[in-house]
Amino acid sequence: MVPPGDYTSHPVIITAHSESLADALRDERNDKYPLQVWYFLVCFIFLVSVINWIDIAFAYVRAKRQRRRLAQTSSTSLSLRGSIDLLRLPLALTDTFRALSFRWTIPIGRSYSLNIMQVLLSATYIVILFAWSLINRKSNVKVKRVPDDWADLSGRIAAIQLPLIVGLGMKNNLISCLTGVSFEKLNYLHRMTSRVMMVLVWLHSGTRVHKVITLPGIRAGVLAAAALTLLCIVWVRPIRGKAYELFLVTHLLLALIIVLSAYFHAKRREVAQFVWPAMALWALDRFIRMCRLAISFFAKKHESGRKISSEPKVEILPGHLIRLTTPTPKFFHWRPGQTAYLILPQISRTPFEGHPFTISTIDTKSSHNSELKFLIQSRKGFTRRLHNSDISKSIGTVLIDGPYSSPPRLVGYDSVLLIAGGSGVSFTLPLLLDLLERSKSGMACRRLTFVWTVRQLEHIVWIEDDLLGALKDIPPNLSLNIHIFAASNQNDIEEDPEKLDDTGSTAEKENGTESGIHEGYHGSHRILSLPMIKVHQERADLPTFIKNEVAQAHDCMSVNVCGSEKLNSAVRESIRTPRMVDILRGGPTISLHVESFENAVRVYSFLDGECTYISFAK
Ligand SMILES: Cc1cc2nc3c(=O)[nH]c(=O)nc-3n(C[C@H](O)[C@H](O)[C@H](O)COP(=O)(O)OP(=O)(O)OC[C@H]3O[C@@H](n4cnc5c(N)ncnc54)[C@H](O)[C@@H]3O)c2cc1C
Repeated sequence: MVPPGDYTSHPVIITAHSESLADALRDERNDKYPLQVWYFLVCFIFLVSVINWIDIAFAYVRAKRQRRRLAQTSSTSLSLRGSIDLLRLPLALTDTFRALSFRWTIPIGRSYSLNIMQVLLSATYIVILFAWSLINRKSNVKVKRVPDDWADLSGRIAAIQLPLIVGLGMKNNLISCLTGVSFEKLNYLHRMTSRVMMVLVWLHSGTRVHKVITLPGIRAGVLAAAALTLLCIVWVRPIRGKAYELFLVTHLLLALIIVLSAYFHAKRREVAQFVWPAMALWALDRFIRMCRLAISFFAKKHESGRKISSEPKVEILPGHLIRLTTPTPKFFHWRPGQTAYLILPQISRTPFEGHPFTISTIDTKSSHNSELKFLIQSRKGFTRRLHNSDISKSIGTVLIDGPYSSPPRLVGYDSVLLIAGGSGVSFTLPLLLDLLERSKSGMACRRLTFVWTVRQLEHIVWIEDDLLGALKDIPPNLSLNIHIFAASNQNDIEEDPEKLDDTGSTAEKENGTESGIHEGYHGSHRILSLPMIKVHQERADLPTFIKNEVAQAHDCMSVNVCGSEKLNSAVRESIRTPRMVDILRGGPTISLHVESFENAVRVYSFLDGECTYISFAK
């Protein structure tokens, strides 16, 4: 018998006892650490969500205050800069933080870069995951392989990432609703977290290579690891850009294999609860999308008791642009700048081939919102097939899955600057229409500037009808300027449709809208004679232009850009130098929103939709 508490003279018992203690401790850590990682991530998402809600609340307070102030002072007599006011220091610091973390980028390769915030977020995520996977593990230096003790924890921490990864990649995205970061911008995090998980999975499998793969559960694990590796490594950006549809189908299949086999693998260790929420989230997303499609198919809007024309209309406009007009489905409401996925069974190659396009109209109570309009630049796949389709015949059913994405809420800004290149106008046009509509029924902002760079002036037909209606009855307290830069030498800041659609377009030629036929355009269009519209037959000097706009703004300014990567970078670089003194003297804090139609393949603009939090000036 060993006297209670006296183990010192019995080494066998001591070893057995300390080993069972170590096992108990390890089991406890295996249970707790994955949850701790998860709590950390949830807290981070919660923090960003709170900042987003505060931002929205402040925007409405700011809007109220601005309305009051402008009712008292006319916009011309407003003093834009004064002496240094230290009460504006928090605003100046917030703006400096935004300028440094979101607008400075680190190039990676020739055509890719990450902003400072992306780098910091990625680094923090990697450190958290690996720290929790590797700490407090014992490693046996005599055994020349990855310590066995790492296996369980790295596997569990990898498994618990699955719901997050699926959640970040969904279209119907809870994280996006809470944080205000658009689903397509969250896609960067979806890819980054998947790649980090892949390395964790390798670490997990590396500790198990000595085991014979005979058990079905272990085979399932190997299958999941192989599918994940294939998905992360094979489908890199250039391939995604070249064969997007193939990427989508393969992604779906590989993702299904990963989640299902990870579930069976995790079930062996009774940690399937880490994996099944990922399946539930995925199924929920698909279910909601199916419901949206069904509604768009069955529930056409009724007007005064009768069905409005359910025939979608396709027009081919100069510059290889397609304007698609389709009736708004019942219950369909959207915010200016939101996106919808279009499925056209007669044009799509597969029944579910959907492409995202921005709704260029706004959701108002007027009769106009009975139609959704899309401005679609012809490229090389679906869009070219649509462009070359016989527009004299019906294009059949248009199924609409949406609305998606989180465009900026342009509320409570003193000045708003909207910049678009080419078809990027489908994003800035609805923002402009909404601001004009709101300024007629109250006060939307004091100064509104719209800039559009196009290769040819004739492209103005894309937006002319919508703009003409909106430019009626502009209130005198709104300083509105529309600048159109038409110059064929801005190929770099505007996409060149000739490059995108190198076959040329038969439909366009047949319709007599080929370049050259519209030479007398300038004189023949009413819109160009309106006083607020200025046409520049030159390349846009954006840095100087933006500098002047900032000088004429105060309090709080919103800059929104949608165009090629070159155009977006030019805007980002123009406002990335901190302006502490200017803000202290009354100059505007700037929030920048960058929208890129190339987001699906490039993530340069991730998180450029910055929060304007704490921008409530005294
Ligand atoms: C949020 C968002 C809003 C957009 N709004 C507009 C708009 O208003 N007007 C407009 O002209 N374009 C818009 N685009 C771009 C448009 O979705 C693509 O140009 C279109 O899907 C290309 O189809 P395609 O088969 O002809 O392309 P391809 O010529 O085969 O490829 C051209 C590029 O489009 C990308 N692409 C192809 N299919 C998809 C897809 N299903 N989803 C995302 N990217 C894809 C490819 O990766 C490639 O980089 C938007 C994109 C996004 C992400």
